[in-house]
Amino acid sequence: MVSAGAGTTDVATAEAVGAAFRQLVGSDPAGVWAAPGRVNLIGEHTDYNDGFVLPFALEQQVVVAAAPRTDGTWRVRSLNRRQTESFGPDDLVPGRVEGWAAYVAGVVWALVEAGHTVEGADLVLGSDVPSGAGLSSSAALECAVLTTLVDLSGLEVAPLDRARLARRCENEYVGAPTGLLDQAASTLCEADNALFLDCRSADTRQVPLDLADAGLELLVLDTKTPHSHVTGEYGDRRRSCEEAAAVLGVPALRDVPVDELDAALERLPDDEMRRRVRHVVTEDARVLEAVAVADAGRPADLAPLLDASHVSMRDDFEITVPTVDLAVETARKAGAHGARMTGGGFGGCIIALVPAGRSDEVGEAVAAAFAEAGHGAPAWFVGRPSAGARRLS
Ligand code: ADP
Ligand code: MG
Repeated sequence: MVSAGAGTTDVATAEAVGAAFRQLVGSDPAGVWAAPGRVNLIGEHTDYNDGFVLPFALEQQVVVAAAPRTDGTWRVRSLNRRQTESFGPDDLVPGRVEGWAAYVAGVVWALVEAGHTVEGADLVLGSDVPSGAGLSSSAALECAVLTTLVDLSGLEVAPLDRARLARRCENEYVGAPTGLLDQAASTLCEADNALFLDCRSADTRQVPLDLADAGLELLVLDTKTPHSHVTGEYGDRRRSCEEAAAVLGVPALRDVPVDELDAALERLPDDEMRRRVRHVVTEDARVLEAVAVADAGRPADLAPLLDASHVSMRDDFEITVPTVDLAVETARKAGAHGARMTGGGFGGCIIALVPAGRSDEVGEAVAAAFAEAGHGAPAWFVGRPSAGARRLS
């Protein structure tokens, strides 16, 4: 098994962060906390259309050892970065702390903005969530730090509010315009379940995902394709969707019923917009169908939905790239029941539903196809639906 976090895996344990904490601070941590990365099973570019998503949390996580400080400042060490950063109350202004420490300062800032009193702290963190691969290492970092500081300061913050505060950190302190999906998954997911999230109401529900029971596993493969043009293309897609909703006279594309899709498409001015709308409306329907088959204990029936989602992203929403398409195609030929790109697009990861125990075989087939086509080597692991943010000790 090739881990996408290879080389950093050993720092994401309670023992590793505890030992590093003792070295940095000279005493034991008050506790150890963790929050996971996530993968989106289905529901791509539906979030900003007020629609549905279905992520699950990964085993890969950010682990934090921490204890209060008495001087009202924060010091944080990342074992992955081999760096220690400090900030104080004056730095709780967006833009003041930059780089990776902004994800930590931004969490303190969001808590303070919400009216909480946050105690100073020493924090040491280690992560085995691959960074920048679309598996949400950023939300894992925010949610791990948030759950740590909430406990250390004895605060009462409801689970969904924790996710909202972590999102606020990312949107307003770090400055990345993302939806609630990542932080909701990292905070609210439960082991052996996916999380159904209605992005309009923020209602959530656990959806059972017992893949092992069905003789299946879910391969997560990082194509390692560098994302290019992501911000511009993302903005274009978003604008297209908003314009289409305005033409159709609905608040968001979520309000176009799938059985009225053809009539809606006829009212749109051009073919490109029709394809964009068709992706979003059918993708929402596929999420609902995925929830239905998972609820019914038939995870094998997710496969055709994954396939259809990929085709829709490739042909209608046009957010895939050749390496991603090659990975999906090869995975299927190598025995995957179904596969799709996951994440915002233009690179990143694919997921494939494969017979239990066959992830390596499928991963190796993709690696061989990549080598033949002159692409760099992918990395992969089995994605196991895991628990959200929690205290470990
Ligand atoms: P993704 O969330 O898909 O992994 P992002 O670009 O949103 O990608 O977040 C990656 C950023 O999160 C990194 O550039 C870094 O600033 C921060 N980060 C993630 N993991 C760590 C870590 N272990 N230590 C320090 N910073 C981290
Ligand atoms: Mg991120």
